[in-house]
Amino acid sequence: MTVKRIRRYGSDVLRRKSKEITDFGKKTQDIFRDLEQTLIKTGGLGLAAPQIGVSLRAFIAFDRDRRKLFKLVNPEIIHASDNEEIDMEGCLSFPEIFFAISRPKSVIVKGFTSSGRKIEIRAEGLLARCFLHEIEHLDGILIIDHASPQEKEFWQERLNQITSCVKK
Ligand SMILES: [Zn+2]
Repeated sequence: MTVKRIRRYGSDVLRRKSKEITDFGKKTQDIFRDLEQTLIKTGGLGLAAPQIGVSLRAFIAFDRDRRKLFKLVNPEIIHASDNEEIDMEGCLSFPEIFFAISRPKSVIVKGFTSSGRKIEIRAEGLLARCFLHEIEHLDGILIIDHASPQEKEFWQERLNQITSCVKK
């Protein structure tokens, strides 16, 4: 069980398409333990495996309302509401940066639990946003890809600071 270094914007691993997980043995359990320890340390709401340098389709997300930690493997969005909501969104890979991002208000996600059980979850509001954000990480998509040119310009200096100290 280890707290891992969070990969920041500019790291190659954040742009890769992660691979499906096919076995639920010790290696997968270790990834989830590392994700959990690292998330607890940082106080974030969600963390995807690529953010700790692991290019596999796994993420965790904390549901504040239900005080529940979801651990998902090979997640797929099977439904997203047409209704969208704009909110400020951050990412542990972009410390201290926030972008206004429009996301569906509710989603249904299917996948597997960390122990390999099939699961389908309906999420709304902040949890839906978190699921969508983490699933994008598994395809190499980052919050900056949603940002307007004005937002990118506003944050340029901070973005440069982040990318300049990236350890690959
Ligand atoms: Zn993120």
